[in-house]
Amino acid sequence: MSTDRKRILIIGGNAGGASCAARSRRLSETAEIIVFEQGSFVSFANCGLPYYIGDVITDEKKLLVANVDLFRDRFNIDVRLENEVMAIDREAMQITVKNHQTGAVYQESYDALVLAIGAAPIRPPLAGIDLKGIFVVRTIPDSRQIRAWIDDHHAKRAVIVGGGFIGLEMAENLVSRGIEVTLIESQSQVMSPLDPEMVVTVQEKMRSHHVNLVLGDSVAKFSPNPDLGADGGIVVTTKSGTTHQANIVILGIGVRPETSLAKAAGLEIGDRGGISVNEQMQTSDPKIWAVGDAVEVKDFVTGEWTLIPLAGPANRQGRIAADVICEAHPSSFRGVQGTSVCGTFGLTIASTGINEKTLKRLGWEYEKVYLHPIHHAGYYPDAKPIDLKLLFSKQDGRIFGAQAVGEEGVEKRIDAIAIAMQMGATVFDLEEAELCYAPQFGSAKDPVNMAGMIAANVLRGDATLVHWEQLSKLDGRLLLDVRNVDEFEAGNVQGAVNIPLPQLRDRLNELNPEQEIWVYCQVGQRGYYATRILSLNGFKAYNLSGGFKTFQAFS
Ligand SMILES: Cc1cc2nc3c(=O)[nH]c(=O)nc-3n(C[C@H](O)[C@H](O)[C@H](O)COP(=O)(O)OP(=O)(O)OC[C@H]3O[C@@H](n4cnc5c(N)ncnc54)[C@H](O)[C@@H]3O)c2cc1C
Repeated sequence: MSTDRKRILIIGGNAGGASCAARSRRLSETAEIIVFEQGSFVSFANCGLPYYIGDVITDEKKLLVANVDLFRDRFNIDVRLENEVMAIDREAMQITVKNHQTGAVYQESYDALVLAIGAAPIRPPLAGIDLKGIFVVRTIPDSRQIRAWIDDHHAKRAVIVGGGFIGLEMAENLVSRGIEVTLIESQSQVMSPLDPEMVVTVQEKMRSHHVNLVLGDSVAKFSPNPDLGADGGIVVTTKSGTTHQANIVILGIGVRPETSLAKAAGLEIGDRGGISVNEQMQTSDPKIWAVGDAVEVKDFVTGEWTLIPLAGPANRQGRIAADVICEAHPSSFRGVQGTSVCGTFGLTIASTGINEKTLKRLGWEYEKVYLHPIHHAGYYPDAKPIDLKLLFSKQDGRIFGAQAVGEEGVEKRIDAIAIAMQMGATVFDLEEAELCYAPQFGSAKDPVNMAGMIAANVLRGDATLVHWEQLSKLDGRLLLDVRNVDEFEAGNVQGAVNIPLPQLRDRLNELNPEQEIWVYCQVGQRGYYATRILSLNGFKAYNLSGGFKTFQAFS
């Protein structure tokens, strides 16, 4: 434990800054700790803002995780709100602060300085971007303004720009307030951390809630629309020339690390535009640390530098900086893998690690499996399916990433896979993972085990796979549907022949041993059994990963 009277100054009083401050105090009773926050709140729940706008959280005070008094009384930490740090003098080890309450400008010297200054929402320099009624969602005052604008203008129509976390959360919350929502996303899919086929159900769900989803188009300009009221009618024109009327526009197109202070002080900035830090969260100046959305971090899977603006990494990095500054523990940051979750219209969308788009960009050799297990035992009421995709190394089974979408139990599976990845686990470890089970919570073979078993079967050569995107090129192969006749008749892949699994052993003589067979069932399980029967009888057979369900949803 440190006993010196170190002066620790922390710029930014939210996720990264507040956790660094509190941890520093827990490690040192003697350090002087001051937090400078330009806004009016310390340690507030920005992750809750969309739900405050949507009236799910009705009491604004609930968004305040802590306050100045709590920091003073519990932690002996001096939090200075509405105090903006204007400059850093590295030579003098001093910062210049402007107190916006009094107008006073003053200096404070430091032994250790922490930049926890976050990232700013991107406001692209488009024509009309400064029109009234166009908002970003970052702070409590932002959400107050949005709420007031909706009420004062009796907003009926909204345009959300961006189909990421904030866009999806805002869509749900505005719809729940009775507002018609158009969501414009420049990519051809929402939620880009996932692969496009995995978000088809999300997009369908949003449309079923009357969200007008505009994919593959982007905003060209905003113009006033007096027809919608003198103050606040906005026309959003896209690059394709389509126009959308709105009373309110929400921008959710990402964030940019706040680096102006760091740049002005001559600190190193990385290629991705974040402040450069080492594993101890130390910047290019050994007396200055930086944490959270403002920094670049190593992607744990690829080893590349990346920007991951998420609350979990910010909090962990704040703790690590405190450990190092207080000389308490030789902590280091392991890197990020982008584990994240988002909810919209009753669906949970979660992912960890890298996606197939990234694997293709890197040119890595990989395999993937799709599965649609139910979230708990099928005989217990209300079992819900999960769409799950696992990406792994063909060589050694190392897990590269996982994505899942469903109504229940989604994030718990991704969390289990995320920690397995951090520990360097393979699909063989998922196969063996011992997870909790009772019928209302899971299955004796949990979806995580199932994913591992299928992947491990593939690597051991017990299961041979074909994927949904390959079915368009049969090239003389037989496509065999092993579902029951009624299932086949209700819908099938064009060109498929139906031999239900229970009849397969007796009807092998109908099949040509020279012809390669691609087998499918509803979700992949009966198809696997069928490929085992076929291969053990000398046929060359491949099973459609995820079955007809995957094909139908994604093709
Ligand atoms: C609407 C919304 C929803 C989100 N939902 C989730 C979620 O569900 N899950 C998740 O993991 N992440 C979510 N995030 C992201 C998460 O909130 C951030 O990753 C996290 O807050 C980053 O912490 P930070 O400390 O780096 O930055 P911030 O939380 O942005 O804090 C930086 C602070 O520094 C202050 N500051 C900046 N410059 C100065 C200066 N010069 N002087 C003084 N003070 C300064 C700012 O006012 C700010 O309060 C969400 C973000 C938003 C905006």
